[in-house]
Amino acid sequence: MDFHLAHLLSFPNTTVETCQYCDNSVVIKITLLNTGIYCPHCDRFTEDINQDRPILVRDLPAFGKKVYLEVPRRQFFCSNCQKFFTENLDYIHAKRRHTIRYEQYVYERVIASNIGLGREESLKYDEIKAMFDARAKNEKKNDWSRVERINIDEFSVRKGHKNFQTVIGDPDNQCLLDVIDGHTQQKVTEALMEQPLLDSRTGKRSQCRYVGRVSKSN
Ligand SMILES: [Zn+2]
Repeated sequence: MDFHLAHLLSFPNTTVETCQYCDNSVVIKITLLNTGIYCPHCDRFTEDINQDRPILVRDLPAFGKKVYLEVPRRQFFCSNCQKFFTENLDYIHAKRRHTIRYEQYVYERVIASNIGLGREESLKYDEIKAMFDARAKNEKKNDWSRVERINIDEFSVRKGHKNFQTVIGDPDNQCLLDVIDGHTQQKVTEALMEQPLLDSRTGKRSQCRYVGRVSKSN
């Protein structure tokens, strides 16, 4: 339908069939151009589609609107090994209803301590938390060598419960440094004391500046 829109979406083997919008949302229906895939069990190519049940997947917002993709979810049959299997698209999480780049976007917004993200993106707390945790596993860098300043945010693991986690980020290098179970001064101080921080004044590795700041903030 729209070559330019398909080009902007930048997914492989994909074209846009329709694009509809209502209120504050856009729904882009995509078609997959590959007629078949290789069987994950015996590696034989098959074009035998058993069923196709499209799913709605959240993608990056555009022009101030929420964007959803209607994506074919195709189950193939392999006549060689007599097995059924579902096609995996590497830009979508198989069991979650969002693209990997949307997860990355939410993760970066959380790192930037963006207040109001849930309201702006119409996301529930648990959805943000799930995306953040999935990304954090991949992105956790623990590179303290360049750290000059840190920011500390705490959030409850479950809304209304007292299980807190503390996220430590590096605002200058825009990266996540650590996620600590707990939020008490003692827990955060213990975690910081484990880090080999470089003190720019003395040239020695020291945690004093950071620990001092935590103590003051509690
Ligand atoms: Zn097979």
